[in-house]
Amino acid sequence: MMNKFLDKTLKIKYEDLVKKDSLLPIKISDFYKEKIIEEVNAIGVGGPIYKSVIPTKDKIELKTSIETRDYVEENKHMPIQNVDYIIRKYDNRLVFIITDICFSHCQYCFRTYNLAKFQSSNLKKTIKEKVDTLINYLKENHEIKEVIFSGGDPLSIGYENLKYALDNLKHWEIRIHTRAIVYEPSAFTEEIILLLKLYNVRLVFHINHPYEICDQVESKIKEIDNAGIRMYSQFPLLRGINDNSKVLIMLLERMDNLHIRPLSIFIADPISYSACFRLSFKRIIKIIDEINFSTPSWINSTRFVMDTTIGKVRRENIIDWTDNCITFSRDNKIVKYHDLDDGIDQPTDLKILLWKEK
Ligand code: SF4
Repeated sequence: MMNKFLDKTLKIKYEDLVKKDSLLPIKISDFYKEKIIEEVNAIGVGGPIYKSVIPTKDKIELKTSIETRDYVEENKHMPIQNVDYIIRKYDNRLVFIITDICFSHCQYCFRTYNLAKFQSSNLKKTIKEKVDTLINYLKENHEIKEVIFSGGDPLSIGYENLKYALDNLKHWEIRIHTRAIVYEPSAFTEEIILLLKLYNVRLVFHINHPYEICDQVESKIKEIDNAGIRMYSQFPLLRGINDNSKVLIMLLERMDNLHIRPLSIFIADPISYSACFRLSFKRIIKIIDEINFSTPSWINSTRFVMDTTIGKVRRENIIDWTDNCITFSRDNKIVKYHDLDDGIDQPTDLKILLWKEK
């Protein structure tokens, strides 16, 4: 498929960057490939589903003045020496990177460098070691009440590994962040759904576009819902994928119909090779206002947040905006954000973003 859909020179350039600059190799599940084929047949290459997992010329060539590998400095929030899979930014919760494996690789992944660096596996021994290390840490840090499984995709570790983790973490609140629902819905097997219910897990889906919710995805979400599992959503705001209030509203409405509670829409961090996905802050504010002024509260209560070195910040945290420099304040701490350079952010044509609509 790649030969048909990705220019040969571009493919070689990208593969070179995978080796030299630790980008994630192209990986697309068969399930998601079907959606790409459908989209390419309708509108050609470069549509929202395509751009999610296949590199474009802009992805490789577009650069902004401020880009970094680890914008939120996860590396500075690893409380155990030489353990890079436990990230703690807040007193009462932590992120547990239980695996670095995903069903497909998102081109905009903000953990690109960490995932490319980890290169571990889903071996039983590896997962057990990680869980045991985490438990020891939790036993010494009683203020932590919640463990957030992230990755990689926690659903990729399979039933036995997930059972081991949940059995041993039954005294903590568990949240699982996953994109398996759109890349590999069959990963939610009957026994995994029962397991998630047994341990009262909160499931947070990462769905970026309404077309990702096809009939099969919808029926799997209903199966999970019927089991009584709490479902939430958070996803990034991405140029070329969902950078229009109409797309976001359609997505939020579809998820609401399926009983998925929206939590946050993330403003993409300025990590390296992210320029083709980011929006200017001015346009982000415009999109937020369009949603606020045209939708009921069950839609517009969704928070737009940006993850930074001082934690998550919102529009309300802006204390200064001079030229391209925006200053946010939170908990008596300040962080400066350099907006996209002028001229880079070109809104995507709605006819491309919502190509199925008449
Ligand atoms: S599924 Fe999540 S962790 Fe995996 S590549 Fe996509 S954004 Fe990154």
